[in-house]
Amino acid sequence: MFSYENIDFKEVLYKEAKNNNIVLNEEQLKQFELYKDLLIEWNKKMNLTAITEEYQIVMKHFVDCLEITKYIEPNSNVIDVGTGAGFPGIVIAIYFGKNINITLVDALNKRITFLAEVKRILNLNNVNIVHARAEELGRKEEYREKFDYIVSRAVAPLNILLEYDIPFLKTGAKCLLLKGSNLDEEIINSKKAISILSSKITNIYEYCYTVYSETYNRKIIEVVKQKHTQEKYPRNYGKIKKNPL
Ligand code: SAM
Repeated sequence: MFSYENIDFKEVLYKEAKNNNIVLNEEQLKQFELYKDLLIEWNKKMNLTAITEEYQIVMKHFVDCLEITKYIEPNSNVIDVGTGAGFPGIVIAIYFGKNINITLVDALNKRITFLAEVKRILNLNNVNIVHARAEELGRKEEYREKFDYIVSRAVAPLNILLEYDIPFLKTGAKCLLLKGSNLDEEIINSKKAISILSSKITNIYEYCYTVYSETYNRKIIEVVKQKHTQEKYPRNYGKIKKNPL
């Protein structure tokens, strides 16, 4: 099978990002290479990602997450809920450099340890890392209704994710959620959540990329918050799980 394994990493990333109209400079490419090396190294001792081949990391993590940068204004305050090993949050931080403030949130402490090391090695002073459950953090005054954008990938079905995410946003600010082919069904199941959380779907951006011969059709759903979130949301995890909006 054709493999990119022996081809220069930065060259491949540059070319594949450019295919999706994203042009990376040498500094960004160097940062991505360091991040990829850390991901592969740390993944040997802890479960960070199921994707371990370099070319697949380029496509399914970096190119996939870079797409979201097209819809974020520089100098914004962004939060990534359920960031895992840093997707899309670290990708956004590398892309914008000092022109963004980004908070990465995850409930799993081992991923937080990894992210702290990525922050240190890549010197990402614009990144704030928080070990917390989203539904608890979203009730704290210093995080509630403070962000211009919230981003999330592969964290929960849309109706549950909106209850986690919307409370972090300022009124008029946006959720940008990376989703796959089930989105239409998730939207149908989220009508109540969208209404209760006073929000509105304003765009669905479609994109795709091909890894070896397989094409991945991906979507970014944009949801705008229209009013303050009612005091009672987000509810605790037990209630969200038992009775999702
Ligand atoms: N966003 C990353 C990605 O796309 O590779 C990670 C996806 S992983 C499948 C889901 C992550 O969300 C896990 O790291 C998990 O710990 C985190 N997570 C799930 N529910 C959460 C919650 N309520 N609060 C904070 N983190 C949560």
